[in-house]
Amino acid sequence: MGSGTRIVIVGGVAGGASAATRARRINEDAEIILLEKDHDVSFANCGLPYYIGGEIEEREALLVTTPARLWERFRIDVRVRHEALGVDPRRRTVSVLERDTGRRYDECYDKLILATGAAPIVPPLAGIDAANVFTLRNLEDTDRIKTAIDAERPRRAVVVGAGFIGLEMVEQLLEREVPTSLVELQDQVLPPLDAEMARPLEEALVAHGVDVRLGSGIAGLASTGGRVTAVELENGERIEADLVLLGIGVRPCTGLAEQAGLALGASGGIRTNEFQQTSEPDIYAVGDSAEVHFGPTGQALRIPLAGPANRAGRTAGEHAASGRAAPAAPVLGTAIVRCLGCTAGLTGLTVRQAERAGLEWASVTVVGRHHAGYYPGAKPLTLKLLYEPREGRVLGAQVAGSEGVDKRLDVIATGLALGATVRDLAGLDLAYAPPFGAAKDPVHMAAFAACNDLDGLVRFLQPDADLAGFQVLDVRSPDEVAAQPLPGATKVVAIPLDELRDRLEELDPTLPTVTSCASGQRAYVAARILTQRGFREVYDLTGSLTLRSRALRA
Ligand code: FAD
Repeated sequence: MGSGTRIVIVGGVAGGASAATRARRINEDAEIILLEKDHDVSFANCGLPYYIGGEIEEREALLVTTPARLWERFRIDVRVRHEALGVDPRRRTVSVLERDTGRRYDECYDKLILATGAAPIVPPLAGIDAANVFTLRNLEDTDRIKTAIDAERPRRAVVVGAGFIGLEMVEQLLEREVPTSLVELQDQVLPPLDAEMARPLEEALVAHGVDVRLGSGIAGLASTGGRVTAVELENGERIEADLVLLGIGVRPCTGLAEQAGLALGASGGIRTNEFQQTSEPDIYAVGDSAEVHFGPTGQALRIPLAGPANRAGRTAGEHAASGRAAPAAPVLGTAIVRCLGCTAGLTGLTVRQAERAGLEWASVTVVGRHHAGYYPGAKPLTLKLLYEPREGRVLGAQVAGSEGVDKRLDVIATGLALGATVRDLAGLDLAYAPPFGAAKDPVHMAAFAACNDLDGLVRFLQPDADLAGFQVLDVRSPDEVAAQPLPGATKVVAIPLDELRDRLEELDPTLPTVTSCASGQRAYVAARILTQRGFREVYDLTGSLTLRSRALRA
């Protein structure tokens, strides 16, 4: 690789800026040109909702760096408002439009890195171009939304799409005291999660007065004088609104790649290898426009998240600058969101994804506390662990709670990346003192339960299982049972756990039996008693009442 390699990068935010600075740190002699069609480079997309809501007070805080700084420190030639219009891989040129002057020119490259990101999906509905309908992708969108809230004091906002950005924006609109409706096509909020794991988020939304409309997409927008006045749903409902925010997903910006004849993958992203090289080895693609290698299934997928984009940029920058780099690690899709005091996230596979990929899976769910229950301030935390049912290889996890969700996700993501089994998780030596966790952390508790399953000590039923044909044993106290019976269960025998050994004759040991309690701990003890007392077929309802009520309502 010649030391004066000319590297041109298209797109100057997460992936592009990472590629540029890594390339410079690897090759001091390279010529590095960064083209960005908009006004800003290297801004914090992930922070945009928090600036709109006021949690981040200064706009400047969103600018991770500036073109001037990138020149001073890295000698990167940043050209903002310069749009790449086309790529000619044969001549190794990029045609560029200088947007402020209209000048067009060709820029040659030895190595080209495409980091063009993704664009919000906008449904083709009448009125969608109205001044009070927004999408959120960059600082210009942010300024528009913030100005609309500041100047127009909306009486009601409708957020369409209950994914990560939609949920963050609902929270920030409430922060700005804008009453908000949330519309989601699926029957649950945060559709990447399994339904019962998203339920705490939905409950938090409702508890904060958000008008949550699930199971219906938008059918149209009513407008007068170029401004939307109401959102019409497919189910015929209508919500008055003077601010509409669309968060229904993104589509990869692959126009340049397609025009240059680069191969796209089945997911619609630009196909890349482990060094982020496309089908043209001197052209790299990173971030939301490219595919990544999804670790749990080995599939090439699009996973539009900041971490993978930054890391892919680093790999591409190094490889473009030196001809070598450590291969990009598989992506696990680890993601997290906070909304109105509730946090939820996932890493690796969900049940839905495992089934779609045709993989065998088993799962346990534990309902615990984010630190030792006896220490003040312990908050509920639900952790669902998916694993391969023979060897116990970890497949994924979902966590919901108000605190400590990130820690559990990151521990399991690390295990997943290293090919851990549930036995490895059970043996992890995690930091513990009462304010931080528990001697048996929820990660351990879930892993212990999974190990018990692998060892044949217990068999779990999923929270939404059909209980017809089972003898259901509820081992809660009579008061607990009276306050909230187990939903979706007939033939329930209620015997408090501490009386079970003395009242076994009330049960038929020949029937398939399911044990349940409030959240799963007593049910497990009961299952062990029954199994050791000769009951033929015993199951433990994972997560018991807590999870079953979430699953059935979901
Ligand atoms: P981007 O960072 O979007 O950069 C692409 C750039 O390319 C853009 O600036 C665009 O103008 C430029 N460009 C495109 N075409 C051209 C062209 N032809 N010529 C010149 N320039 C061009 N991810 C998380 O993991 N966690 C979060 O909490 C999170 N929160 C988010 C919140 C919001 C509001 C948004 C919008 C995204 C969030 N994301 C989050 C996603 C994350 O920001 C993206 O995955 C990441 O920025 C993708 O990086 P990228 O380099 O591929 O694209």
